[in-house]
Amino acid sequence: MSTAATSFPDRNAAEVADLALTSDATAPEVRARRMRQRRQMYVGQVVSYSLGASVLLLYAYDGAISMAVPSLFWAGGLMIIGTFTVLSESGFGDQFEDHYLTVFQISAHMALQLVFLLAVPTVGVAFISVLFLIFAFGTLRMTSRQAMVTWCLATAGLAFVFLVSDLPIGLPVATRLERTASMLCFVLVIGQCAFLGLFGSTLRKILYRRSIELKAAYQRIEELAELDELTGSYNRRCIMRLLDAEIEGSREMAKACAIALIDLDWFKRINDAHGHPVGDEVLRTFAITVFANIRPADRFGRYGGEEFLLLLPDTQADAAARMLERLRGIVADLDWGAFSPGMRVTISAGVATLRDNDTADTFLARADSALYSAKAQGRNRIATS
Ligand code: GH3
Ligand code: MG
Ligand code: MG
Repeated sequence: MSTAATSFPDRNAAEVADLALTSDATAPEVRARRMRQRRQMYVGQVVSYSLGASVLLLYAYDGAISMAVPSLFWAGGLMIIGTFTVLSESGFGDQFEDHYLTVFQISAHMALQLVFLLAVPTVGVAFISVLFLIFAFGTLRMTSRQAMVTWCLATAGLAFVFLVSDLPIGLPVATRLERTASMLCFVLVIGQCAFLGLFGSTLRKILYRRSIELKAAYQRIEELAELDELTGSYNRRCIMRLLDAEIEGSREMAKACAIALIDLDWFKRINDAHGHPVGDEVLRTFAITVFANIRPADRFGRYGGEEFLLLLPDTQADAAARMLERLRGIVADLDWGAFSPGMRVTISAGVATLRDNDTADTFLARADSALYSAKAQGRNRIATS
């Protein structure tokens, strides 16, 4: 018997890999893919039995065995394959995790080899060598428990043949043709085992590649879940989580921590005068400007609408105010007229520094009241609480 298929192009292996990663095994496309894979395997098995029968034909031609043996062997193999094909096409195997019904297939093919070993022991090598192939196939699919079960079955069968019976298990080498047939037994089985090994390693490579791709995709999803779509800054959920962590970290390390609530001035007017898409572009450009002018450890997120929160770890009040003042100047000096003639954009910010008994809410409330006073004092300015 043989295994998976007569050819294993990369695409087929990819399909198998796909399958291993698919959680919903009942999905129609998954079932169809599985069925396709099983069909390939059955075709491979037919080819394998045909090769085995051809070798037996050489023995029979030489007179070592009856002419009926090759065809019986071939018919026996085809009966097993046919039975499993019917089960496969009816979708019977799909209800099991091991939809190949590996243990049953291995047991059936092994039983056939043992029956022929008992019936035609003089060419025993032809059937014993196939056992290697059966297990090579099994390694692609079997769990360790299944491997133990099938190995025990094989051991019991072989023990019966070798120890209980005293049949003369043969490796015919009396004539040139017999020597050729015996050699072919090994050559063909080794070739098919190598083919299976190749398939297994291709599969492993594909799975490895897929796992790396998946890891990168998960990482990207995680990043996207933390970012604000428009500005690329952290979204509110994330910046609030970072604020909590920053408060905790600063307390533990007994370090200063400053935050700034930044709000674009008269933004409603910008939208009204130049249009919402231009307003979006302004928000994006503002965010890029901030990113270009903060330190790597600083964290910048969209607090809501045209209001942003900047976390400044390990920063004293005066340094934070200086930094925000610099940022304010940079934003005010940008050539906003390039977006829309006559446009001007400025920001106001409220800066607060962490106090001993601050919670995130009280910390933010002070930054917010500083922002309020910056607005009240005429905007385009920084206020510190
Ligand atoms: P102030 O100086 O007092 O902050 O005035 P303001 O006009 O900036 O404040 P207000 O809260 O009245 O208006 C904020 C505007 O920001 C209203 C809203 O349409 C706009 N806005 C919020 N989010 C977005 C956005 O994602 N894109 C655009 N284009 N506009 C937004
Ligand atoms: Mg505003
Ligand atoms: Mg606002």
